[in-house]
Amino acid sequence: QLASLSEAPPDAAFALIDAYKADRSPLKVDLSPGFYRDEDARPWILPSAKQELLNDPIADHEHLPILGHAELLDSAQRLVFDTTPEDANTIASIQTIAGTGANHLGALFLAKAIRPRTVWISDPTWINHEEIWKLADPDIERQKYPYFNKEILDLDFEGAMSTLSSMTGEGDVVILHGCAHNPTGRDFTKEQWKAIAGICEQKRLIPFFDLAYQGFATGDLDEDAWSIRYFFRNTSLEMLVAQSFSKNFGLYGERIGGLHVVCRTDDTRTKVVNMLTRLSRAEITTCPINGSKIVAKVLGNKELKAQWQRDLLHMSDRMRTMRQMLVDGLRKRQTPGQWDHILTDVSYLHFKMHSLGIANTAEIGMFSMTSLQPNQIRILREEYHVYLLPSGRISMTGLTEHNVEYVTEAFHKVLLD
Ligand code: PMP
Repeated sequence: QLASLSEAPPDAAFALIDAYKADRSPLKVDLSPGFYRDEDARPWILPSAKQELLNDPIADHEHLPILGHAELLDSAQRLVFDTTPEDANTIASIQTIAGTGANHLGALFLAKAIRPRTVWISDPTWINHEEIWKLADPDIERQKYPYFNKEILDLDFEGAMSTLSSMTGEGDVVILHGCAHNPTGRDFTKEQWKAIAGICEQKRLIPFFDLAYQGFATGDLDEDAWSIRYFFRNTSLEMLVAQSFSKNFGLYGERIGGLHVVCRTDDTRTKVVNMLTRLSRAEITTCPINGSKIVAKVLGNKELKAQWQRDLLHMSDRMRTMRQMLVDGLRKRQTPGQWDHILTDVSYLHFKMHSLGIANTAEIGMFSMTSLQPNQIRILREEYHVYLLPSGRISMTGLTEHNVEYVTEAFHKVLLD
């Protein structure tokens, strides 16, 4: 029976990670993964999280409650929504297997609870959204809304607005990236977010925010949660947030995250908690404990939290610097193509605002889209040992002061050929 299974292609992102590991060249550079890397392109244990890893020698390994680590959930909820004690009665929160698990549990929950006709996913998006929804319920139609114009490497706000306002129906789900959109690194401006919230309210859509980069994107926890808090405070919508602690705590392998369902009333919250509990119990019983203790401790301790905020600034600063160095190198060489969009640079912002007469944000976080073509991406890998996803997305965290010149030279040569 099993022999009749159809073969699925390998996961593009993880296949590249394996290929990179196997590459013996000392020149190799990995621009593909969504993991933070330090000044020497190595994994970085955040000082704020490291102390906790080392200082808990007598920890036991008992189960967490089904909903998860209570203090963690409390802090996690406040981090996202800046909640008051009254708000807490209207939001159902449950710990999840990181951001992926939160996306999955949210999809499963919506599929069981309200059976939406369609889920609207940005084009492009994180490699896993489509698959998660397909597996949660193949009968829910998966549709794309325009998000990024690949020709001009710019946000397609008009396209998004027009599709969401004309094609959606009541109860449809819209996946929104809370900040640092993956893979484009380009977010809606505050004015644009307000317009998107207006459409969601008018059409009674269900916003489902994916928040994988809070604090990691700009270094500012409040700024990175602005979109979600706006929807929370200024609409009456029921909405979901999938929260990940993988990037902002550097706890990738610990699988720590949370799902928050904004229910608006205490009554609805009771029912939602009940259903989330059932679903999670049937799938995982309880969440991993180690990482949740680390995050709960850091978020609940003033000094550790201040250290964590310094760690976040350190990471986001490094990514901004790498954006600048990459673009400087390409400008210096007069490499063909459009590169300015990669910058988080303020002068770019002003230029854009003046020349187009609109407020626009430059790119933040670790990702940017390039217009490198599949053939050029293959040559970069095979001849220069520079790895990036077939989509042309690059991750800034693979760049260092030591390899950025090599990478710009490689881009330059490949684009001149
Ligand atoms: N959502 C988005 C937009 C992401 O980029 C990622 C990670 N690449 C995730 C969710 C999943 O994160 P986690 O490792 O916490 O499962």
